[in-house]
Amino acid sequence: MGDADVLIIGAGAAGLMAAIWAARTAPGAEVLALDSARKLGAKILVSGGGRCNVTHERVMERDFAGSSPHAIRKVLRRFDVRDTITFFQEIGVRLKREETGKLFPTTDSARSVLTKLLAAATEAGVRIAHPRRVESVKVKPVGFEVEGNWGQVSARHLVLATGGKSLPKSGSDGHGYEIARTLDHSLTPRIFPALVPLTLPPGHFCRELSGIAVPASLEVQNAMGRRLAAFSGSTLCTHFGLSGPSVLDISRYYVDAKATDPGTRLVINWLPGKSGQEVDAELQGRGKLKVLKHLTKVLPDRLAEALMQAAGVSTEVYGHGLTRPQRLSLTKILTRMELPVTGDRGFGFAEVTAGGVPLGELHLDTMESRARPGLFLCGEICDVDGRIGGFNFQWAWASGYVAGVAVGRKLQG
Ligand SMILES: Cc1cc2nc3c(=O)[nH]c(=O)nc-3n(C[C@H](O)[C@H](O)[C@H](O)COP(=O)(O)OP(=O)(O)OC[C@H]3O[C@@H](n4cnc5c(N)ncnc54)[C@H](O)[C@@H]3O)c2cc1C
Repeated sequence: MGDADVLIIGAGAAGLMAAIWAARTAPGAEVLALDSARKLGAKILVSGGGRCNVTHERVMERDFAGSSPHAIRKVLRRFDVRDTITFFQEIGVRLKREETGKLFPTTDSARSVLTKLLAAATEAGVRIAHPRRVESVKVKPVGFEVEGNWGQVSARHLVLATGGKSLPKSGSDGHGYEIARTLDHSLTPRIFPALVPLTLPPGHFCRELSGIAVPASLEVQNAMGRRLAAFSGSTLCTHFGLSGPSVLDISRYYVDAKATDPGTRLVINWLPGKSGQEVDAELQGRGKLKVLKHLTKVLPDRLAEALMQAAGVSTEVYGHGLTRPQRLSLTKILTRMELPVTGDRGFGFAEVTAGGVPLGELHLDTMESRARPGLFLCGEICDVDGRIGGFNFQWAWASGYVAGVAVGRKLQG
């Protein structure tokens, strides 16, 4: 393998984007991408349930966590949603907007996104070599030398786009963090799974209701009851606990807060938009109606039964038969039920990684390292994680674009 002008470690979403734009910006330059995976683009292929949620119609810094919103915005605005739509259209992927605001390829096929990205890379003149896991990087007087059990290769500029630790079998096993460290970068004190399902103890009724999905609101509260984060959306009961968009979205806030404050609580409102007072008033007015019947108007039968049991109220009781303590107990279970979360399902099931290289260590107009000129970072390796909806890919496209153009300009300059 010959030496390169630009070497990109990782040919996932961010790495491919950086490679395409480096090669487009500096035509004729030798742009080489190395990836450890036998099959490229595993994460793109599994994304969005195999349909690849490429981006979202509206992407704001508040859709992300990690580094400061100001820093995240600086990168996002360099390559916004309109740019993403235009870029994909130009490489042959038309996007369609769904009701939720998520954008998917009109083909509904993640494979078509990957195929077109790879074709665009080839057309721009990018070489991709895989499986080529990079074990270590040495700094040379000019440039870098990258090594693996396949040999070594040198390059004037290096782009680190190794992703995070989520779904390690896809090739993103966190080794990139170690490489970043050897190149004088620090990592956030904690690197943990985000967009991850949460587990409940064996025997919890949610586990018995596997497959039931309902709209619900979730709230992370600290030990004093102060709200730290809140999300609403579809909530899915599973054989291990809870999943679905609302749970995935709130998971990083729960996992993060719980690590430092064991008193952190996750509280669910099974009747989103309704306050305890409203529900209490409704229950008071149910006179001759069975309470269960009242609840099954808005909740699946089995869930309504389970919630009544959890509140210690018979499923046979009529409105007028509810005692005050029973009513208060049921209202609490319906609108402020604490979920006894036992943990999360870990990186193997997480869609993204929270934590990584702080954006403060990069020049955000180029994604170039402040510590190591000639080194660029982009994608999930950075301390940025988005919510469900195409935001994580938008970060990968935007940061990959910024790094690619900047490295291309450096070659020309
Ligand atoms: C199941 C699932 C579904 C998802 N769905 C969506 C979605 O629909 N929309 C959305 O916006 N986001 C989604 N995401 C998140 C999104 O896939 C990631 O945020 C995004 O892929 C990150 O891009 P990246 O290029 O930074 O990292 P990755 O895509 O992880 O790519 C990193 C690449 O680097 C390679 N690599 C790692 N270490 C080395 C090494 N040492 N040497 C050589 N190569 C290496 C890996 O093999 C990999 O190909 C999903 C994630 C998962 C797991």
